[in-house]
Amino acid sequence: MNLHNLQSTDPVCLTKLNAAMASHQLTYRNVTYHFCSAHCHERFSDNPVFFSAPRRIDEQHPIPKHHRLRIASVPQAIREEAGIRLNEVRGVSRVFIGDGYADIDYDLRLVSLNQVEAAMKDAGLPPKGWLHGLRRSLWSFVEHNELENLASQPSPCCSRPPIRVR
Ligand SMILES: [Zn+2]
Repeated sequence: MNLHNLQSTDPVCLTKLNAAMASHQLTYRNVTYHFCSAHCHERFSDNPVFFSAPRRIDEQHPIPKHHRLRIASVPQAIREEAGIRLNEVRGVSRVFIGDGYADIDYDLRLVSLNQVEAAMKDAGLPPKGWLHGLRRSLWSFVEHNELENLASQPSPCCSRPPIRVR
């Protein structure tokens, strides 16, 4: 076996990669997973139960999310620049940055609210308000539970009683 041609699939974005060349990997429940990027590595670490589920319920179906996040007021030039950068984040499908808020659509399979927020801070958009911060923690908690519940749903093909063959 030629180890240098070992094919692997990034469990988050489903990109095919060469396991020997992958720069990001982790072992969860004795299985080693390889990732295309630090972003996907982090996404997996947040919800290993979901991304390692034997049935990839999420393969065809995006899990669309929309949030309006309050931010401190920043100049128009910074808003435009931040909008461009956020559009490049994997899993983010639509961004609009207004005066004091950001409207963001994303696919929960590919990016979490925590990752979106970190990208916003990196792009120079400071979050605003401690009460709102509490609500965001709740959203993150709900996202986490939503994925764990999806992962634990029984597969439709297993909900029928097994057929006895005589
Ligand atoms: Zn990836």
